[in-house]
Amino acid sequence: MATPATSSSHDPVQAGLAQLLAKLKQFRPDAPEDVVRAAVAFADAAHEGQLRKSGEPYILHPIEVAEIVAELGMDVDSVVAAILHDVLEDTEITPEKIASQFGQPVLEMVEGVTKLQLNIQPEADARQRRAAETARAAETLRKMLLAMANDFRVMVIKLADRLHNMRTLSALAPEKQTRIANETLDIYAPLAARLGIWQVKWQLEDLSFKTLHPDEFHRISELVAQTRAEREEQLDEARKSLRAHLDERGLQSAKIYGRPKHLFSIYNKMVQQGIPFEEIYDIIALRIIVEETYQCYLALGVVHELWLPMPGLFYDYIASPKPNGYQSLHTKVLGPGKGPLEIQIRTKHMHEVAEYGVAAHWSYKEGKTQATTDDKFGALRRQLFDWSSDNRTSSDFLRSVSTDLFSEQVFAFTPKGDVLDLPRGSTPIDFAFRVHSNLGLTLIGSKINGTMVPLGTEIKNGDVVELVTRKDAKPSLDWLEHAKSPHTKTKLRSYFRKQNKDVSANRGRTAVEKELRSQGLDPRLYLGDDKMAEVAKHTANCDNASDVFARVGEGLTSVQAVIDRLKIAVKEPQEHPVFKTRRSVEPTVITSGVDDVELKRAKCCQPVPGEEVVGYVTRGRGIVIHRKLCPNINKLEETEAERIIPIRWPSDGNLYPINLKIICGDRQGLLMDISTIFGESKTNVSAARIQTMPNHTAEIDVTIDVRDTQHLRDLMAKISNYSDVISILRVMGRGR
Ligand code: MN
Repeated sequence: MATPATSSSHDPVQAGLAQLLAKLKQFRPDAPEDVVRAAVAFADAAHEGQLRKSGEPYILHPIEVAEIVAELGMDVDSVVAAILHDVLEDTEITPEKIASQFGQPVLEMVEGVTKLQLNIQPEADARQRRAAETARAAETLRKMLLAMANDFRVMVIKLADRLHNMRTLSALAPEKQTRIANETLDIYAPLAARLGIWQVKWQLEDLSFKTLHPDEFHRISELVAQTRAEREEQLDEARKSLRAHLDERGLQSAKIYGRPKHLFSIYNKMVQQGIPFEEIYDIIALRIIVEETYQCYLALGVVHELWLPMPGLFYDYIASPKPNGYQSLHTKVLGPGKGPLEIQIRTKHMHEVAEYGVAAHWSYKEGKTQATTDDKFGALRRQLFDWSSDNRTSSDFLRSVSTDLFSEQVFAFTPKGDVLDLPRGSTPIDFAFRVHSNLGLTLIGSKINGTMVPLGTEIKNGDVVELVTRKDAKPSLDWLEHAKSPHTKTKLRSYFRKQNKDVSANRGRTAVEKELRSQGLDPRLYLGDDKMAEVAKHTANCDNASDVFARVGEGLTSVQAVIDRLKIAVKEPQEHPVFKTRRSVEPTVITSGVDDVELKRAKCCQPVPGEEVVGYVTRGRGIVIHRKLCPNINKLEETEAERIIPIRWPSDGNLYPINLKIICGDRQGLLMDISTIFGESKTNVSAARIQTMPNHTAEIDVTIDVRDTQHLRDLMAKISNYSDVISILRVMGRGR
């Protein structure tokens, strides 16, 4: 049975939910309630049966964390993520389930909070602990800063989580209380300050103070309570005359508040500056909140007219805001009792920013364009990494951690606001390779914070780095000196190695092609991928064709070794050697029937009818017919080109001897089997020689008579189909 709403006062979960919804309505009147109810029901079911150390149902913790988040004016997604913030870590719920019910943005926040675990190991000696943990904390801080830069809301939820844990700390063992309070003071409070969330910062500090130094805490609270009446009197008097003067000047809408001082800050001043309580607490302070900025200056005029300003103690943070966006007028005057009176003057919006910091930007998101919001967050993100100006808000511990962190790393932004962490000393070249290798390889220029800079410029924390690229650009060798990170250098080196390899490979390929041609072999046939893959397999340190060619180009492997391997890989020799026609003249038709010219067939290349041939006009011995790709003809073309004439030689029915080399697996009866093939195709074998090799192959040299290229092709096809045959080559004869 569902609990009826009317009995919610008896059900702590329903009571918590009602309180949360009330808070949400107060800070976000337009926020949908149903999604919050759904999230509470979801988390309640997930945490079912779990109890906190205090004995309360666990679900009360996330509900109260969500309430703090709502109080900070955060959006509904943040509130929902706060309700679900412990679900991934402590229950069986999967990320997919959260994403499908509450959307990806909520899931990302929940995951972000889950990952932000800051565990500092307890050590007996505080100094020892600090020394040992600084390095590790620096790494954690790096993670937190990156997470924060990615989405501030994650950190806001984490701070709310910590705040609620601090409020309920007394349920834990004393040892654990001390450890958590120390950690809060060391890390969480300063981070809250960095985000400008003063509301959370002072609460965290006072709660830690109470845990760590209970005696001092109670002494100071008592002192504050005792002197209150006295101070209230002074404040009342100041407030009254201020009110009258403001009204007189038309500032009826201005509001005046007393400014509470937080116990921890009083204690800190007493300890650090050695000042007794009385001296700190005799200073009274007021705050004036107005509607418009110009009214701040009007109010300042009223204050200075009324009381004498103390020289050198006026600050205009409206004209020059603090790095975290804080704006206000600060002045110190001699008040009614001639004692110093501190006054802060600001608009309502400035006040929100002062109290809620980064969180305030969500409450003021409405009515602003996305662009201004992005701008604002961009500035905040950058500020997050600028720690040089920020010693005041950091704890000693966080300061030493950040000093460690920032002495080794810089954080830089893309123009879109994404943050990258780089080793200190990094340049736009490192930045580019970090974003993407392709970006690095096509880099031609860079801007830092909008100004064009040399590529070797060192990036500083918080810089916005813009890259200029061009598709056809190439890295230059001197980048190796300008790059800082090992990652970039590795990328660059492998690029340059590859470049060199490409050049070597080209040189190697050309050499192999040239040699193939000179041996009358067709590169197109020999340099196919499959054949080269075969060669690569048998060549040291090579995976593919370009590796082989690169080795040849670098002189590590000989051209001949590659060709020998290719010959083994190519079972079929070239059938149609293709060369560019070196003459545009139509071939003369000459047959063996020509009477007045003696025609001879060259012994070197043993041409057959149907083949591309040329004639070499000898001095008195007629014309010698060579194959067009005969190396001898290649040489003659360089010296006696005028003696080489085009010839066409169709089949004439005659038989012509040629030499073949057949390489095959060695076994008994091999020669007989090969002879059978020749016999079946009625081919005359005029000579045959078999030689067995140490690697169990055999080389058979045969001289056969063929009619024309067609005959030869058929024959070679038949032989290469024979399973033992590894390759079959047409080889050159001897002499010319
Ligand atoms: Mn929690």
